[in-house]
Amino acid sequence: MSRWPLAHRTAHLAAERLRIDQKIAPGSLVDPFESIKAAGLSLFAEPKDRLFGAYFPESADAIGAILLNAELDLVSQRHTASHELGHHVLGHGLQVDLTTDQFEESSAGDWDLTEATAEAFAAWFLMPRRNLCAALAVLGLTQPVDAFDVYRVSLMLGSSYRGTARHLATTKIISRAAASKLERVALGRVKDRLNGNDFDQVDRRRNVIELTKFAGWGRVIAEPGDRIILDDEFWSDRAAECPNLVLVGQRDGNSYFDVTCSAGGSADVHMDPPQGRQAPTVLSIRSPLVGEVFTELIPDVSQMV
Ligand SMILES: [Zn+2]
Repeated sequence: MSRWPLAHRTAHLAAERLRIDQKIAPGSLVDPFESIKAAGLSLFAEPKDRLFGAYFPESADAIGAILLNAELDLVSQRHTASHELGHHVLGHGLQVDLTTDQFEESSAGDWDLTEATAEAFAAWFLMPRRNLCAALAVLGLTQPVDAFDVYRVSLMLGSSYRGTARHLATTKIISRAAASKLERVALGRVKDRLNGNDFDQVDRRRNVIELTKFAGWGRVIAEPGDRIILDDEFWSDRAAECPNLVLVGQRDGNSYFDVTCSAGGSADVHMDPPQGRQAPTVLSIRSPLVGEVFTELIPDVSQMV
């Protein structure tokens, strides 16, 4: 029998409990980095060849800590941080998570229960069902129509595209068959369609964020290299004033901006609510975590990989 149903049951409860303990507001972007600190753990990031992340439980001679690979993009760091936080919340011992693609494997049937539960925790923590529904509601939907909608939901929740497609099925918002089909869509094509032919991105791994469509969603994260598309009637003036957004072109009533940010830097761009929408939207520009590791505080992970 697959371990995943048990992993999901355990992880779902643990994620809900943590959300209540930490008083995390429902229906908004979850910040796993803040939750790690709120759980009393230290958070570090360091460039590594073969590492997603690691969890070090507190011991007599070491602090409790989570280490992330500084070379991952922001969404992967958020996912890995949530996975490692799962190891902590679920009482797992020291964990070192290797390779850079295990979280994106769709046929993850042979995972052991510890890894499966931490991975399920990451999904439930970043994407509780009510947050998926709230994000869909911002788009005027109760379920996604196509890959574009799934991608938009993933951007609002700060989760991966394929992870979001999968979790939409786990939460029974769409069928497994629909999720499998969506998972197979090439995300690069989705982004190319959103960008159109005129404005290629320097790094095609970065996201394309149609921010105007997310009006009413409290906080949307972006990282350097991401593309922001704004309807010229809403927010383009505000964006043009922001030093972290560089205008690359305009077409069909939309302005296209590239996000810039110094290493380790961050900026919040406050967008007023467009007509008819109540909540303000904040574009949170964050570069992926980079940070010195105080090696005397945690075991040397290079000995373990
Ligand atoms: Zn793990």
